[in-house]
Amino acid sequence: MTVPKVDLIDGTAMPQLGFGVFQVGNDEAESAVKVALRNGYRSIDTASVYGNEDGVGRALRESELPREELFVTSKVWNSDQGYDDTMRAYEASLSRLGLEYLDLYLIHWPMPGRGLYLETWRALERLKHDGRVRSIGVSNFTVETLRRIVDEADVVPAVNQIELHPYFQQDGMRAFHRDHGIRTEAWAPLGQGHGLLDDPALDRIARVHGRTPAQVALRWHLEIGNVVIPKSVTPSRIAENIDVFGFELAPEDMKTIGEMDKGVRVGPDPATFESD
Ligand code: NAD
Repeated sequence: MTVPKVDLIDGTAMPQLGFGVFQVGNDEAESAVKVALRNGYRSIDTASVYGNEDGVGRALRESELPREELFVTSKVWNSDQGYDDTMRAYEASLSRLGLEYLDLYLIHWPMPGRGLYLETWRALERLKHDGRVRSIGVSNFTVETLRRIVDEADVVPAVNQIELHPYFQQDGMRAFHRDHGIRTEAWAPLGQGHGLLDDPALDRIARVHGRTPAQVALRWHLEIGNVVIPKSVTPSRIAENIDVFGFELAPEDMKTIGEMDKGVRVGPDPATFESD
């Protein structure tokens, strides 16, 4: 299975589908990432706060895949925001992962109340400028916080990784991204499994295509241009979630899914989330 790549604003290319490892310990992450790599995933999404960069790094090393075939993302956690702390956090992530560079480094949450995200972004710009990271971006940024970066910083974020799934479609954020050349990356692309994958409309579409509701949801993301990073630790589901390049949704399927938006998040609201 070869996953197509999408271009980012800085000229690099990113696999449109990757593998997420949220809420997975080191050992489980190591085995899940090994299964994912065997199934053709090449992009892995972790974060320092997930506490599994060591396990992810072990799986990457043991795969013996050439480094340039891999696309590794990590994120600076809230308690490390600020210029110097972010520089240190980047080195610590690299060392846990056992890598010389990351493909993508993100600010995990904007925390507008703390007001450090612009300074944190300057650190990411420095890392990019010095060739220590290939691409830099943000996560959970709102229109307000993203606009401030676009207006005041030198480098436009290559991606904004946000909660996005058929029950929370984020049309406003997607339009803002489109206007500024920022790639939308969807976290919880399956709505974390809760309810969304039991939706009768999704199930109906899945039956017509001889696919599963998870595959239909992922296909919808791909067809609207999102990057997706579904998570599973179950080998059959890891294989199922990448097997989404052999079919296409019909315009009426896209319309039906487009009408499923409930405007309800499964995760925290980035306008107020400030957790350490
Ligand atoms: P997800 O939408 O990928 O859902 C994962 C859950 O869905 C699994 O735990 C499992 O219960 C279920 N599932 C997976 N595949 C399935 C299948 N084929 N059939 C049935 N059920 C299936 O949710 P997520 O893990 O929250 O998001 C994906 C990734 O996004 C994370 O692992 C992480 O890398 C990233 N993420 C980022 C942030 C952020 O703040 N930037 C927040 C949450 C997640």
